[in-house]
Amino acid sequence: MKTPKHTSYDVVIVGGAIHGSATAWFLTANPDFNGTILVVEKDPTYEFSSTAHTNSCMRQQFSAPLNVKISQFAADFVKNLRSYMQDDRVPELDIQNYGYMYLADTEDFANTLRENQKVQLAEGAETQLLTPEQIKAAYPFYNVDDIALGSINLKDEGYWDGGTVFDWFRRSAQDRGVEYVANEVVDITVTSNQVDSVTMASGDVIACGIVVNASGPRAARTAQMAGLDVPVEPRKRFTWIFSAEQPLDMELPLTIDPSGVHFRQDGPKTYLAGCPADPDPAVDFDDFHMDHGRWENHVWPIIAGRIPQFEAIKVVTEWAGHYAFNTFDQNAILGPHTDVENFIFQNGFSGHGLQQCPAMGRGTAEWITYGEYRSLDLRPFNFERIPNNRPMIEKAVI
Ligand SMILES: Cc1cc2nc3c(=O)[nH]c(=O)nc-3n(C[C@H](O)[C@H](O)[C@H](O)COP(=O)(O)OP(=O)(O)OC[C@H]3O[C@@H](n4cnc5c(N)ncnc54)[C@H](O)[C@@H]3O)c2cc1C
Repeated sequence: MKTPKHTSYDVVIVGGAIHGSATAWFLTANPDFNGTILVVEKDPTYEFSSTAHTNSCMRQQFSAPLNVKISQFAADFVKNLRSYMQDDRVPELDIQNYGYMYLADTEDFANTLRENQKVQLAEGAETQLLTPEQIKAAYPFYNVDDIALGSINLKDEGYWDGGTVFDWFRRSAQDRGVEYVANEVVDITVTSNQVDSVTMASGDVIACGIVVNASGPRAARTAQMAGLDVPVEPRKRFTWIFSAEQPLDMELPLTIDPSGVHFRQDGPKTYLAGCPADPDPAVDFDDFHMDHGRWENHVWPIIAGRIPQFEAIKVVTEWAGHYAFNTFDQNAILGPHTDVENFIFQNGFSGHGLQQCPAMGRGTAEWITYGEYRSLDLRPFNFERIPNNRPMIEKAVI
C-alpha cells in the first residue's frame, strides 16, 4: 500500500478502473478544471474488476434515446481516440461492426424490437428489422425456425478494444498530473452532510472536496462508508471463448438469443459466448467460481440449436465476472447524492457500462467543474430517481 503525496485533494476517486480513470482523464481534459485529483485503487492489477472481465461490445440498439446517444459518443470517442487525447502515441482504433443480432421468438418481443427501432432511427442509428427469410438470406448459418423477427445495426455496433482505451485513460491522466495510489478506501467521514475526508487501509486520512464512487460492484460498500445506500450488487456473469470444428465463413454478429445466451465472433476462428448465472443472486465480492455445468447443460445446446454448424465446438478458455448490477432499474446511477452533495455516484452500469465510460466520465467531469452537464444532459441518471421511485426504463438490457 502506498501513501498519497499530499494530505488533501480537490477530487478523490474511489476505484481506478475504466470509469474512475475516464472521469480522471476528462477532468484533466477540461480547461476550466484546475484542481488536484487522487485515484485510489485497491488492486492495481485490476484482475477482479468488471473492466477486466468485460465482453467489450457497444451497441446503439437501446430503447432509451439517451442510452443511444451515449453509445454514439462512445463510437466517436473510440474512432477518434488519438485526436481526443491529442497524443500521437495513442493508437488508431476502430469498431468491428458486425452488429448485435437480436432474435425475437414471440410477437410481443418482435413488437418491442419494432418500437425500439423507431427510437434508434430517430437518433440516427441504422437499425434494420429482418424477417426470418431475410435473416437466412444474409446469415445462412442461423436456424430461424422459431424466430419471428430479427434486428441488427451494422454502424458503430460490435466489438471495440476497451482494454486499450482504459490503458490510455490511465496513462494520459497520469501524464497530466493525476496521482494514482495503490491503497483501499476503508472509511469516509461526513460532517453536516459534507464529505470531509477518506481513510485508507494504510491509515492515511486524506481531506477532499469531492468523492467520486467508481468502485464498480463494491459501490454499495463504498456508499455505506459515508452512511449512504445505493442499490448495486455483484451478480455473476460467465464468459466462454470457444473454437469450432467447422468455423463460419463470415463474421458472427453478437447474437442475442431469445434464451438470454449471447455469442459473437472473437478473433478469426474463435467465438465468445456469455450468460448469467441461474439462479442469479447477489454474490460475494470475491466469488469468481465458474459453474462448469452451465456450458455443458445450457449454453452449448442453445448455440448448437441456433447454429447447427456449431454442433462440434470446444471451450478454449472461460471466466466468471461481476456486473455492478443496479437492482432498481439496471441503468447507470450518476451524479451527487441528494443530501451529501459532494459524494458523486458513477455506479450501477450493469451490462452496458464499458461503452458508457466516455459519456459518463465526461459528464461527471462537467458536473464537478460546472455543477451541470453541458454536453449531454445526464440528469435522467440522477440518484434522486431512486428515493423518488422513478425508474429509468431501458427495455434492451442484456
Ligand atoms: C462478463 C461481463 C461482460 C460485460 N460486457 C460488456 C459489454 O460488452 N459492453 C459494455 O458496455 N459493458 C459490458 N460489461 C460491463 C462493463 O464491463 C462494466 O460496466 C465496466 O467495466 C465497469 O467499470 P467500473 O470502472 O465502473 O468498475 P470496475 O471495473 O469493477 O472497477 C471498480 C474498481 O474499483 C476498485 N475498488 C473497489 N472498492 C475500492 C475501495 N474501497 N478502494 C479502492 N479501490 C476500490 C476495484 O478494485 C476496481 O478496480 C460487462 C461486464 C461483465 C462482468
